[in-house]
Amino acid sequence: MNERMVILGAAESGVGAALLAKQHGYDVFVSDAGSIKEVYKKELRGNGIEFEEGQHTEELILNASEVMKSPGIPEKNELVKKIRKKGIKVISEIELAYRFKGESKIVAITGSNGKTTTTSMIYHICKEAGLDCALVGNIGYSFAKQVAENPKPLYIAEISSFQLDDIHEFRPDIAVLVNITEDHLDRYEYNFQKYINSKFRIVENQTPADYFIYCQDDEVTMANIRNFNIHSNPLPITMKNSEILKGAFIRKDEMTVKTESENFSMSVYDFTLRGKHNQYNTMAAGVAASTLGIRKEKIRDAVKNFESLEHRMEYVATVRGVDFINDSKATNVNSLWYALESMEKPTILILGGVDKGNDYNQIMDLVKEKVKAIVCMGIDNTKIHEAFGKEMQLIVNTASAKEAVHAAFHFADKGDAVLLSPACASFDLFKNYEDRGNQFKEAVKEL
Ligand code: ADP
Repeated sequence: MNERMVILGAAESGVGAALLAKQHGYDVFVSDAGSIKEVYKKELRGNGIEFEEGQHTEELILNASEVMKSPGIPEKNELVKKIRKKGIKVISEIELAYRFKGESKIVAITGSNGKTTTTSMIYHICKEAGLDCALVGNIGYSFAKQVAENPKPLYIAEISSFQLDDIHEFRPDIAVLVNITEDHLDRYEYNFQKYINSKFRIVENQTPADYFIYCQDDEVTMANIRNFNIHSNPLPITMKNSEILKGAFIRKDEMTVKTESENFSMSVYDFTLRGKHNQYNTMAAGVAASTLGIRKEKIRDAVKNFESLEHRMEYVATVRGVDFINDSKATNVNSLWYALESMEKPTILILGGVDKGNDYNQIMDLVKEKVKAIVCMGIDNTKIHEAFGKEMQLIVNTASAKEAVHAAFHFADKGDAVLLSPACASFDLFKNYEDRGNQFKEAVKEL
């Protein structure tokens, strides 16, 4: 009898894993407690894969030899507890993709902020250099599905901490850890150390043939790095130190990349992405690309023509001399810090949504220095008022993107900028951060 692979959750990663497992002869069963999107059902049916939705039938699940748990399902889920108790091996989708990827290489990018930007930039450089590669993972395309349907010699994979939680052998040739700040604590028993340990699993199976790119200026990374037994080659990136042997640094607005294959410099003024955070992302991408053997000329050109991503410090328009910037993807205080840090004009800040335990003290100095007015956009704005009420004269409440844009525009003078960088989740007023960013852009266009 074939081994039984049960897949919990039938969205992008679950369905991708089902296709790959089926292809490799497993007896596959997919179970989703909610409803499954029609496109995914079609894919499952088309491949003769059994599934259920709206329920988990335990008899059909607890007989599995392995369970692939989708990243969205938490440990505290009762069924997951039963699976663990029974000792059934639980794997993540990236583990399955790894099992069947053959000789192909993996660049895996994780961290709290900057994963998507860094992943996209590495992919962009690889494509510009003519490498045959695929962009996969948390960024929206299932890694397992790519391996099943269109395998490539190189995968550039964005990896979340949830996907690292159930790896066993997953080993990237190049691992990138952009930074670690508090996030998703609800999934880690409100224990920051557990989240940190999860992020460091990206290097767990690496060998001396592999590489580890990390940010030497990131306090949490550096406070923890020695606690892990890391066998791969360290490639730090930094803005504070120009003495590194290999890796990258920025000094006097000049980035230097030093790897086994290349040694080159380029001015940060040639980066298309603005802000310090993007200088870190660009260093990480430059080191990764160089480690892959891409020539410096190609890397320089690709960094120069990389277009910024939607909802991440995205320039929207200038209306009567006021710039509007959409950074809806900033869902925590740390990303807001970097957004403000990069602002060069007096700023009207649109902030708020569902608070994730935010400590606004971290941005107080930047707010005092750069922000003229705060427009709260959320159902409950109490914490923002408590944090900034004493320092800021102008704080108003709004409850839609349109109201927020109008209020911000009202406070703005020619030469100012309006920044949407909410530092909060969006689901009190919006479907998700994309919806929030899109409604913001709509409202700006209507002005
Ligand atoms: P992720 O995929 O990890 O959520 P993104 O690349 O989508 O990260 O960026 C999310 C937000 O985080 C951006 O809007 C930006 O403000 C901020 N950000 C991006 N890169 C960094 C970084 N290296 N350090 C801190 N904040 C960052």
